[in-house]
Parts: sequence; structure tokens; C-alpha cells
Amino acid sequence: TYACFLNRVHPDDRDNVDENVQHALEGKKAYNLDHRIVLPDGTIRVVHEQAQVTLNDAGQPVRMLGTVHDITERKRTEETLQQNNLLIESIKRMQSHFISQGDPFQMYSKLLNDLLILSASEYGFVSEVLESAEGTPYLKVYALTNLAWNEETQKLYDAVRQKGFEFHKLDSLYGQVIVSGQPVISNDPARDPRRGGFPEGHPLIDSFLGIPVHFGKRLVGVIGLANRKGGYEQSLVDYMEPMVAACGQIIVARQDQVARYQAEEALSKLASLDGLLGIPNRRRFEEYLQQEWRRGLRSESPLSIIMIDIDHFKRYNDHYGHQGGDDCLIQIANIITGSLRRPSDMVARYGGEELVCVLPETSLQSAVLLARNIRERLIDNAIPHVASPVADLVTISMGIATTVPTAENTSNALLSLADEYLYKAKSGGRDQIVTTDGALS
Ligand code: GH3
Ligand code: MG
Ligand code: MG
Repeated sequence: TYACFLNRVHPDDRDNVDENVQHALEGKKAYNLDHRIVLPDGTIRVVHEQAQVTLNDAGQPVRMLGTVHDITERKRTEETLQQNNLLIESIKRMQSHFISQGDPFQMYSKLLNDLLILSASEYGFVSEVLESAEGTPYLKVYALTNLAWNEETQKLYDAVRQKGFEFHKLDSLYGQVIVSGQPVISNDPARDPRRGGFPEGHPLIDSFLGIPVHFGKRLVGVIGLANRKGGYEQSLVDYMEPMVAACGQIIVARQDQVARYQAEEALSKLASLDGLLGIPNRRRFEEYLQQEWRRGLRSESPLSIIMIDIDHFKRYNDHYGHQGGDDCLIQIANIITGSLRRPSDMVARYGGEELVCVLPETSLQSAVLLARNIRERLIDNAIPHVASPVADLVTISMGIATTVPTAENTSNALLSLADEYLYKAKSGGRDQIVTTDGALS
């Protein structure tokens, strides 16, 4: 009968139970322990067993009395509670990582770490679902267990940290998740017809679980897990459901955040450009002049400014109409933009039909060359201005000032000087360039 009893005990617990019973029989008198038993129908229950041995006067065991309590439900509740706490902790961690850091690679790799622990998996990845230019979905993998098996794959792995992997194969186990939007469980990937084949040398995947991450009805991500002892089952998917749902919210929140950031960038760029001419506005000009003034101060290099004003533009408007005036202004802004030589050169709208060039690290001589070039191009463009008393084409007047920034000087003083020269150009008959050396021909 003892052998019969022992037979009921779960094979993995049998040695332990037997040892306890033998101990008790040898005079230890009592024992209590938890172990599993297998019922005739094959179901496994966890029991708490308590037993007492009665010895006779000679110290021989004559009787053993015990009780067996089924504690399966209690154990299950305890485990579920523990597992749920783990799950809640992981969700909280993921949410706080999302709030505290902008780097998706760090956030997703911490999430992957938790997922591997929760699911007792060896490998895994976390990805967002994106769409290619052709409208085909693919995975952008932000976190991937390092399973590099040679130098080449190590290099590939290192690249993921910088820009992420892209998984495009739809005829694969992970691709099946994208296509079906359903979890994919494969506990024999080597023989699974859905697997597309792994690259040569790829470490053995003996089980695979692909979980779709949804936001509402939209598939926004895929989580891949591999190599769990004993394989994967639906109950694990059910268990991780709250985590996966939270993950979906975070993917969408992150993508919204990135989109909002990009829109703000575009907007602020827009806010620094003049609406009509598409060149930097006065605000941006002042910012840039300050910045280049400070740079010039450090590098002790000359900074030049050209103030440009269209001659008799009021008459132009009166004759050609406001729309004609706008078109003329756009044309002149384009001519000046096209004349600039360096990325650091800037032309901005100072106000009305007045434009200004900021030329960092530019001598007076070079600034004059540029101003002359602008005038020549304007002549080449030959914009008619029949109402002008100066010429029958549109002409401009320019004032150029150059200085090496010093602590005693200011950028405003430089600007005033350029303005003063521009005034001299106007009073001197317009259609000319005036600098420190006076009017140039
Ligand atoms: P001057 O040779 O002395 O510079 O004469 P001016 O007529 O160009 O100078 P004034 O400052 O008297 O007139 C400038 C004109 O430029 C008046 C204004 O209507 C026109 N203007 C300013 N901004 C714009 C614009 O964005 N579009 C158009 N069409 N006209 C503009
Ligand atoms: Mg003018
Ligand atoms: Mg003016």
C-alpha cells in the first residue's frame, strides 16, 4: 500500500516524500510537507500532508496517521497574486520609463527585460509596426536580445542601438503576427510551415510566441519571445494581456509625442520665416546677428552687414499694383539669396521693402564683392520700373558696414552704421553702394 501511495505522488516530488516518510519511520515521529499528487485522471493537485508515527515500547513503528489537505486553489491564488504583482510592477516601470526618458531604445530594452522575466523566455524583441512607402507593414525593432553568433551579426546587433532593426519578412513567424493580428504560438519552429527560415548560424529557436500589440483595433506593435522551457501556451498570452495593452498605449503615446515634436519644430521654423518672401524674418535676423556677433567676439574675425532698400518702391506699387510689388519683392529676395556664397551668410527681411544681409567672417572687401554681384544680377534680371526717376529698371541702394566685434562695440552700432550708409546712398542719388570709403561706382 505504501508503494501504491507513493505512486500517486508526482514523480518530481516522490524522492522528497519518500525521504520524509522514511525519516518519520526511523523515529523522527512526525512530518509535514507540501507536494503534488497525480489523480487517476491525470490532473495534478497540490496537497499539504501531515503525518504522525506511533512507535511501540521497543521503538518500532506500528502505525502512521496522517491528513492530506488539498491546497491547490490556495497555492494557485498565491501564485497568481505574486505573478500579478510582478505584472503590475512591470507595467508601472514601463510607464515611468516612458515619462522619464525620451530614448525609445532604452525604454523598450527595459520593457523587453521585464517581458523575458515574466514569460521565462530566453530571447525576445519589442517592435513597433510601421508602414513602408509602398504601404506594406513592417517591424521597427527597438529592442532585441543579443544573439549574435559571429562578428557580422554582432555588428548588426550594435547597429540596433543606433537606429533599430527593420523586419520585413511577412512569410515568417513574426510576419504571421502582422498578417493575422493574432498571437502566434509555435512550439516546434524547426518544423513549423509558417516559419520562413532563419539565417545560417542563427541560434536554435525551440519555441516561439509572437504577440500582437493593439491600440483599439489598430496593430501598433509586435512582441516576440522565444525559448521558454516547456513551450508557450495561450494562458501566458492571457496573463500578459494587461502588460501588452499598456504597451500599446505607450507605443501610440510615443509616436504622438514624436509627431508633435516634429510639428512644433516645423512651426517654429515657420515662425522665424517671413510669410511672403520665405526668408528669415526680423526676429530671426536679430537672433542670428547676436549669435554671430558673439562668435566674432571669440574668433576676432570681421562681421559684415549689408542693408538693402528698393529705390522708389512706393511708385512701383502705385504703378504696378500691390500684387506686382509683392512679386517684385519676391524676385529681389531670390536674387539676393542666390548670390550668397556660404551657408553662414543670411539674408533676412528687415521690414517693408528693406532687406539685410549678415555675413559672418567676411571682410569689407568681400562684402563689397557680394553687393556688386547682387547689383549685377539685378541688372541681368532687368525688372521694368517705368515710374522710377532713377532708371527704367528696378534699382536698389545698399549700405555696408564691417567690424571685428569687441567688448566696447555692439551689434546695434554696426547696424546703425550700415543704415547710415544706406541713407547716404539714397541721398547721394540711389542705385549705389556706400561703405566707410564712401559711395562706390
Ligand atoms: P526710397 O527710394 O526712398 O526707398 O523710396 P520708397 O518709395 O521705396 O520708400 P518708402 O519707404 O517711401 O516706400 C516704401 C514702400 O514699400 C511703401 C510700401 O507700400 C511698400 N512696401 C513695403 N512692404 C511691401 C510689401 O510687402 N509689398 C508691397 N507690394 N509693397 C510693400
Ligand atoms: Mg525704398
Ligand atoms: Mg524703405
